[in-house]
Amino acid sequence: MQSKMPKRSASTGNINRRSQAAPIHRVHSETALSRQRTEAEPIQQQSRKNSSQRGQSNLLAKISVNSQESRTYRDSDVEVNPPAIIVRQGEETHSRRDVVTRMLDRIMRLLLNPAIKEPQTEKKVKPKDKFAIKTPHLAAVKLGKDIHIAGNSGDKRVRELHQKEGLNRVLVLVEKLEHGAGDAGRYEKDFRKLEMLLQARYHQGEDISDELNQIKVVLEGHLLKWHQVDKKESDKGSVHGEMALHGPMLNHAKNNPRDKSAPKAPIPVAGVKRDCLFCQWAHAILNEHVYADLGYEISTAGTHGVPFPNWKAPQELMENNNALIAFKERLQDLNHDGTLWTMDEAGKVTLDGHAEKINNSHDPYESESDVE
Ligand SMILES: [Zn+2]
Repeated sequence: MQSKMPKRSASTGNINRRSQAAPIHRVHSETALSRQRTEAEPIQQQSRKNSSQRGQSNLLAKISVNSQESRTYRDSDVEVNPPAIIVRQGEETHSRRDVVTRMLDRIMRLLLNPAIKEPQTEKKVKPKDKFAIKTPHLAAVKLGKDIHIAGNSGDKRVRELHQKEGLNRVLVLVEKLEHGAGDAGRYEKDFRKLEMLLQARYHQGEDISDELNQIKVVLEGHLLKWHQVDKKESDKGSVHGEMALHGPMLNHAKNNPRDKSAPKAPIPVAGVKRDCLFCQWAHAILNEHVYADLGYEISTAGTHGVPFPNWKAPQELMENNNALIAFKERLQDLNHDGTLWTMDEAGKVTLDGHAEKINNSHDPYESESDVE
């Protein structure tokens, strides 16, 4: 049974179009990345609303601000936009990702799906056993043959129960799910695609890709590596999931050194949400000051442009003085009368004064394809 998300025209959303889109499997090839970066330059000049701020000359692809609707696009309609320090508060970007990264997005969404808490097909669980998902977010990255997952630290952290049982519950649900029996909309589609992957029916063109196959193997063996499970912070701060992944990502980059003169190898980060403003900046800064020398570049689904008080920098940023300076300088740009953003010695960002309300959707774009 085919159930499609309502399809909307990408043209209404200002997502950059390319006349002849590269096939999706080429998105993360180095040539595609470097080519797209040069192509993106002229487009970056358009439609910046407020020209009074610094760093305005390189506007990234953006879609409309204050939009909460989820959108459905052909992947070929979305550009690759590496994390960028010039993204401003409230500015949204989307970035195109490959089929493997989008499958990881889906698995993260399923791990957070409220239906997993109390699935209709299961008898009601006791409160004690309730799937203690407090995190609003999970991020994931595939490094070699491992899938690393992290939620936020702090109040909304992932609990041990989540780590222990999350994947099992997803797999049990997938086994039980009849086509069309799941939640409406995106979750149903997510279930169906994961189910197809596990049944080896998920395909990219004709064949299941090696990378997707590896995800299948990892899921079946439950070989997920979780980070900052039940990690509290002493200061109300929160290290966001994608920031916590810099530990394993940097390890991976250091252990697999690349020729500096070669094009950068992308490390695509997947997750339930796009980057917040600070995570986007931190990725961009770490790309420049840390990963570039190692021959790598972090890529993400883009940003929803919202800054969060109590955001806490990862160790990898705190330990690199140039990176830290770059972040603090960028943070200062947010300050104006009545608003003061500061970062303390532990890397926690605090807001004094008035916070701008931004209603952007946090989700990555949705692929209109039923199978990719
Ligand atoms: Zn964040």
